[in-house]
Amino acid sequence: MASVSQRSESCLQSVDPVLGDVVRQALIAAPPWLDFAVISGKRTAEEQRALWQKGRNANGDIVDASAVVTHKDGARKPSRHQTGKAVDIVAFRDGQISWKAEDNYIVAAYVAGFAAACGVRLTGGVRWRWDAGHLELETT
Ligand SMILES: [Zn+2]
Repeated sequence: MASVSQRSESCLQSVDPVLGDVVRQALIAAPPWLDFAVISGKRTAEEQRALWQKGRNANGDIVDASAVVTHKDGARKPSRHQTGKAVDIVAFRDGQISWKAEDNYIVAAYVAGFAAACGVRLTGGVRWRWDAGHLELETT
């Protein structure tokens, strides 16, 4: 049984309680070999804009595709993080954060599957094949 780190908990406190509760339960129930943390929850428009700026110039043109972390600019294209309907998780491998997409797809698929079993529908990177650790409440 995993414990919920302070950072994970503060991210989970910031989001929709349905999302926060199910991800917290998934963390607690995760087997030891499937270690992960929550690294982002609710964001302001300014925080989203700053993330969108990564890899882009002042005009918003992509200048370094490898640095791009989001296509949502926080204004014209808001992120579901801004309404507290999304979290980002990251996998740990051998006690270290792993940014490898394959590791993050595994933990995201686990969380989405756990949530589905609890009747909470999540979508995100695991379905889009991009932004592996992003999970959001599915809109109905
Ligand atoms: Zn995200």
